[in-house]
Amino acid sequence: MTPFDLSGRVALVTGGNGGIGLGMAQGLAAAGAKLAIAARNAEKSAAAVAAIEAAGGAAAFVPLDVAHESSCHAAIEHAVRHFGRLDILVNNAGVGVRKPPEAYTAAEWHRVLDTNLSGALFCAQAAYKLMQRQGGGKIINIGSMFSIFGSTYAVAYAASKGGLVQLTKSLAVAWAKDNIQVNAVLPGWIDTDLTSAARRQVPELNGHVLARTPAGRWGLPADLAGIAVFLAAPASDFVTGAAIPVDGGYASMGI
Ligand code: NDP
Repeated sequence: MTPFDLSGRVALVTGGNGGIGLGMAQGLAAAGAKLAIAARNAEKSAAAVAAIEAAGGAAAFVPLDVAHESSCHAAIEHAVRHFGRLDILVNNAGVGVRKPPEAYTAAEWHRVLDTNLSGALFCAQAAYKLMQRQGGGKIINIGSMFSIFGSTYAVAYAASKGGLVQLTKSLAVAWAKDNIQVNAVLPGWIDTDLTSAARRQVPELNGHVLARTPAGRWGLPADLAGIAVFLAAPASDFVTGAAIPVDGGYASMGI
């Protein structure tokens, strides 16, 4: 087995039916893992499963609404019934609400926190028992540049993504004894449905991202495939509690 071989491993990716989640799922599948695509939209998920299978991989749709604890447990059980085990959990599902902090309703705040932060904990809790029994596992949490920087228009999103980094560190230190590595990935600006909606709402966003990103381009979902494979594979067995930017240099740029 090479350090990056995922043959025989099973991965569940929340929000794996599009954007960054699908980019990572396709990378994991190319490295040999079987994929549980866990999300709400069945049609979009069927297309993602078909794309992975067309490339020679194995995948299945697992219905999931991460904002509900019982759904997180049911999805993990579903994946294990289907594939027989679970080695890798990618907590990628995420939403945002774009408005100034003073305008947030309690319902909007809770929807973002429940989806982006609480859902990651509940999925990790459900996966923990299995991974512990299997002798180890990998959990990858998807943060953001807003895990580091503040935002004038996305207070709940930034709070959830900052919280994910601390969740990552706490799970990493608690579960290191079980040979479970827990790490976070902090993507820069990536071209997906999420950001194309933001680009439509904020015309100057495109120019701002290009000027602010040293690589001079938007990231693509496929740019996240390599880090997903690394953090899912034996290559990263002594890496835990890390938060790794994949951002074309965004987080390293001063003025
Ligand atoms: P997309 O909007 O393309 O994908 C979001 C995914 O999350 C969808 O697959 C959606 O599937 C799923 N999802 C949303 N809510 C739920 C829910 N309640 N339960 C289960 N699944 C859910 O966004 P991106 O690919 O851009 O974002 C993916 C992750 O990356 C998010 O966590 C986002 O915050 C993060 N990120 C994105 C960046 C970017 O520039 N694009 C930058 C930094 C971080 P469905 O609707 O079928 O449930």
